[in-house]
Amino acid sequence: MNELANVSPPPDVRVLSEQIAERSALVRERLDRTAGREVRVVAVSKSHPPSTAWAAALAGHREFGENYAQELVGKAGFLAERGIEVRWHMIGPVQSNKVKVLAPVLGWWHTIDRSKLVRTIARWSPEGTVMIQRNLSGDPNKAGCTADEVEPLVAEATEAGLDVVGLMGVATEGSPQLAAAEFASLVAQADALALRERCIGMSGDLDVALAAGATTVRLGSMLFGSRPGSANGGPSRA
Ligand SMILES: *Cc1c(COP(=O)(O)O)cnc(C)c1O
Repeated sequence: MNELANVSPPPDVRVLSEQIAERSALVRERLDRTAGREVRVVAVSKSHPPSTAWAAALAGHREFGENYAQELVGKAGFLAERGIEVRWHMIGPVQSNKVKVLAPVLGWWHTIDRSKLVRTIARWSPEGTVMIQRNLSGDPNKAGCTADEVEPLVAEATEAGLDVVGLMGVATEGSPQLAAAEFASLVAQADALALRERCIGMSGDLDVALAAGATTVRLGSMLFGSRPGSANGGPSRA
């Protein structure tokens, strides 16, 4: 029996947990109203302390997303020590040399965008659950493969024994029209490839993503408020 498993949360974590529970209930209502179907919510706890993930778990969250390998592994350990079982989603770019430390902890790999990553994940996480990340904006500085690269990557990952469940994408910020078109294109490709998961939508473009057919959304600021060190609570951490 884990010694810490029964550690009760300190008052500040309990208060935070109640806040997160209230915000989560509002998000749920919005999902029910807009999507009218089951949508998986990945709580993006990045750049918040591990105690925030603890509070979110107490509020009922069981799917967590992080952008940085080290931060993900640290929070996963923190929750595991407290006897809390959740599923971890890697939603940030993955360097091949981080696959080994992530493999025992994940979960879902959302950001597969090249062959080398497929091969490395197949080695350390055989039969691992993955999504192919498509670069929706066409901005070469953004992560993700091109539309043309998706199908060969799906084939390669499947061939390597990975469980390819869907496609993931981040839309261009600030234009709902562009985002809608980008999401529609991703959903059409997922349909064509018979992939069930469409992981699209963050706090700023949630409704657009739901309308386009999101099955999984990644929510940070909507659940946790703005991130420490970020002026606007936007998706990037300075
Ligand atoms: C940070 C981040 C999110 C969550 O962003 P919010 O705008 O806070 O909801 C979702 N997806 C990815 C890939 C991110 O980096």
